[in-house]
Amino acid sequence: MAKIGFIGLGNMGLPMAQNLIKAGHDVTGFDVTPAGPAKLSEAGGKAAKEIGDAAAEMDFVITMLPAGQHVRDVYLGNGGVFARAKKGAVFIDCSTIDVETARAVIGEAEKKGFLMLDAPVSGGVGGAQGATLTFMVGGSDAAFAKAKPILDQMGKTIVHAGGAGAGQAAKICNNMILGISMIAVSEAFVLAEKLGLDKQKLFDISSKSSGQCWSMTTYCPVPGPVPTSPANRDYAAGFTAAMMLKDLKLSQEAAKAAGASTPLGANAASLYQKYADSGEAGRDFSGIINYLRKS
Ligand code: NAD
Repeated sequence: MAKIGFIGLGNMGLPMAQNLIKAGHDVTGFDVTPAGPAKLSEAGGKAAKEIGDAAAEMDFVITMLPAGQHVRDVYLGNGGVFARAKKGAVFIDCSTIDVETARAVIGEAEKKGFLMLDAPVSGGVGGAQGATLTFMVGGSDAAFAKAKPILDQMGKTIVHAGGAGAGQAAKICNNMILGISMIAVSEAFVLAEKLGLDKQKLFDISSKSSGQCWSMTTYCPVPGPVPTSPANRDYAAGFTAAMMLKDLKLSQEAAKAAGASTPLGANAASLYQKYADSGEAGRDFSGIINYLRKS
């Protein structure tokens, strides 16, 4: 059993922390809003009154925060994690943030003698609840070896992607593929409609031929062919358009900084921006088919 501080108890962080309690750990949680810590207490954890109380005396500190600036504040800020953690503590940041911030914060942790990983996830709220998340992990072998047993209790697939920032790099590359492929599949269904081709026929053919991909076979953007896809529930999220836009923007920032050419990624970001701005930011990202149909 480990003493674990968990900071950021939102849609993802709370169920992840609850799984660590179920696995027998002593979990202390903090969030700037009171609902998450209250629910954590009900589940058998402890609610911290400030960030430092979720860091002091902990073997591990895990963070699940909205963006890079929150991660900097929580780790580097006055009374933050670095200021209060004990020697030998291991930090795991599971937020999806920019590669540069991940590398900078891990660099600061290592300067202070701490082990730290970036470990963003895929699998969504369902994966967080069911402890079936995929973790894409960046950082040293020593940090990974210590954190792996804890990550195993929140996820099913744990991949050590490389050094600091490699987890974030994997996450944004993967989601850039997803954003682009969802638009590609949606455009194909819109064209099929105009050509009088039945959507089920297109699915039957493409899901078994070279157009096959996850956006087609698991998350099909038209109702019918894949009964579990959000298209069958009026595109209730799921993974919101706002979240897809966040990840596409991160991939574009990274591409710019690294000098990589990603024209389809740039177009996907621009289309998701327009879709989100049309009042659909909270709807599932596969609903972009409705935007494409109208535009
Ligand atoms: P969320 O907004 O529900 O939760 C974030 C929590 O962090 C909130 O409760 C917020 O109050 C808290 N917070 C903000 N600043 C804080 C601070 N300074 N100290 C303590 N707590 C603070 O978001 P979420 O859906 O749980 O996502 C968290 C991260 O996981 C994001 O980076 C997101 O991109 C990533 N992610 C989300 C999903 C998903 O399906 N929701 C999937 C994969 C990855």
